[in-house]
Amino acid sequence: MQGNSKSSDEAPRPSSPLRAPSPRERGEAEDIAIIGGGIIGICAAAFLAEAGRNVTVFDRTGICEETSSGNAAAFAFSDVLPLAHKGMIKNLPKWLADPLGPLSIPPAYLPKLLPWLIRFWRAGAPAKYEASLAAQAGMMKLAEAEWMGLLDRSGTRRMLREAGSLEFYESEAEFRASLPGWAARERFGIGFRHVEGESLADLQPGLSPRFIKGTFVPGWKTVADPKLLGKAIWAYAEARGARFEMARIDRVATDQDGATLTLADGTSRQARQLVVAAGAWSHLLARQLGDRIPLETERGYNTTLPRNAFDVRRQLIFSGHGFVITPLETGLRVGGAVELGGIERPPNFNRSKALLRKAQQFLPGLNPSGGREWMGFRPSLPDSVPVIGKAAGGRSVVYAFGHGHLGLTQAAATGRLIRELVLGQTPPVDLAPFSPQRF
Ligand SMILES: Cc1cc2nc3c(=O)[nH]c(=O)nc-3n(C[C@H](O)[C@H](O)[C@H](O)COP(=O)(O)OP(=O)(O)OC[C@H]3O[C@@H](n4cnc5c(N)ncnc54)[C@H](O)[C@@H]3O)c2cc1C
Repeated sequence: MQGNSKSSDEAPRPSSPLRAPSPRERGEAEDIAIIGGGIIGICAAAFLAEAGRNVTVFDRTGICEETSSGNAAAFAFSDVLPLAHKGMIKNLPKWLADPLGPLSIPPAYLPKLLPWLIRFWRAGAPAKYEASLAAQAGMMKLAEAEWMGLLDRSGTRRMLREAGSLEFYESEAEFRASLPGWAARERFGIGFRHVEGESLADLQPGLSPRFIKGTFVPGWKTVADPKLLGKAIWAYAEARGARFEMARIDRVATDQDGATLTLADGTSRQARQLVVAAGAWSHLLARQLGDRIPLETERGYNTTLPRNAFDVRRQLIFSGHGFVITPLETGLRVGGAVELGGIERPPNFNRSKALLRKAQQFLPGLNPSGGREWMGFRPSLPDSVPVIGKAAGGRSVVYAFGHGHLGLTQAAATGRLIRELVLGQTPPVDLAPFSPQRF
């Protein structure tokens, strides 16, 4: 759900009139259909098109028009800690007490959410937490390698910003509480430096003195703008033969020849193989294929200010308040937070406004005017690990969703893993922790 209407120049580029006819125009089955033109579907299309496969992406709104368009732009390769860690659970009562705070649950949605919350709680148990941490750490190594490769192959490396990130603490107690998390990251070789005083001020001038310490993570990266990157990767996939069809898929079914997709207009498409990468809506399609996957959505809000709103040197992370500030090529993006409110409720942009007010307190010189508000749906699983694997009922169907806070970061790795699953090749990481059947 975007707060703004999209202009026609943001629609996917029309295919050239000289292009070869599509499988549908030739009356044949699609080779591979991908449902979802977010960053996960785009990267899967790019990897499969590179492998010489004929791919068609179906999306109801366009290429990179929904959650993948307005996120905080981080390649958060060091963000390996599952959300259900002790610190988060300890903070829950405090956060929930403030309806515009870092985490909110609309009371009417609580009964529906409860089974997911119970799974989330259980995912914080030490053995499960360690297993998810190890899976995420392995995935992040692949994520970095695959993004760097894809950026180079697609000619988009100029969109990468390598200024690191800076996370802040308001008290010694808050800093000390963060140390076990940093120790866990250290175990996986993630570099960081705790800073204070002048070193902190040098890394971000103009910061409120309420922040007494920080942690600088040099390997953290951001991109110029996630929407522009998604569209550029799509242009690369399209140049390798990937196609796009604007359509909402209402039904999916499998048979011995592959999958049948029924579109909202009542027509259908056949595909030999199907990839479900429909973000926060994926579980609705998976259920039709016999898989019950506990996907929820962590709705997030932000405001994108004009670029000159403040001189922000790198991504700034206010963990205690659940939001970040990212300098983009296209503006200054302020936001984050989590609202466990499902996929149907209208957005509550008071949340974006509350985050902006906080940002003004934290960076007193920030000019808050001229912003554009937005909300997106993080597709989230209770253990913070995405689903990447085959459907139980149909070997011709592969799932790729549930990347939560890290879909941009893990998109190229997911594209690589989807390629290996579709081609029947051995994936570079053990896919057991990502199994759709693990719940
Ligand atoms: C505020 C916020 C900040 C974030 N910051 C970051 C960050 O800094 N770094 C990071 O790595 N991640 C970040 N994320 C998370 C990231 O944006 C998501 O994980 C990612 O965009 C998910 O990508 P996706 O392709 O799975 O889903 P989406 O981008 O939602 O794409 C799914 C697509 O499927 C389509 N679709 C769904 N159902 C159907 C259907 N039946 N028929 C046809 N089309 C359908 C939708 O139209 C949509 O376009 C953030 C998220 C939010 C909300």
